[in-house]
Amino acid sequence: MVIDLTQDEQKLVEHAKEEVILYNKIRHKKGGIDTLYSFLISDGGMIHDGACFEPNIAQATVCAERHAIQNMILKESYKAKIKSIVVADPVPSVQERGTPPCGTCRHLIWEFGTPETTVILMQYIQGKTGWTFPKIEKFSIQELYPHPYEPKEGLWDNFVPE
Ligand SMILES: [Zn+2]
Repeated sequence: MVIDLTQDEQKLVEHAKEEVILYNKIRHKKGGIDTLYSFLISDGGMIHDGACFEPNIAQATVCAERHAIQNMILKESYKAKIKSIVVADPVPSVQERGTPPCGTCRHLIWEFGTPETTVILMQYIQGKTGWTFPKIEKFSIQELYPHPYEPKEGLWDNFVPE
């Protein structure tokens, strides 16, 4: 399948492929298994990585997308915007549709992006000799979240330093 990617998206997808392999190798060495990762490129051109965090209390779970967004905010402040975000999900075989972000993450991608922000669903498969990336799909966040919840203002908007 051929999909149109911008230069930034292409850079992000290449980064994602390399890091999925790197992080999975680290996990496997310690007896872990593949997980869902997320990678984003900001309007400042920086790339931020995230992985699903699954501790032993369910309510403390953090999605990979949120981890990547939090890294963007840590390194670039709340003023940074997501240009494009990859969701890289391990699958046993090629699926009709890649895993889209959950509802909360769709909202956060909307909040920290623009209507044109793209969401790239990347399926990856672990084989005997390594990992392959058989399918990617691209959506705009507007397509995935057409009727956003829009609270008046975030805390950050009201913040006035003393
Ligand atoms: Zn989520």
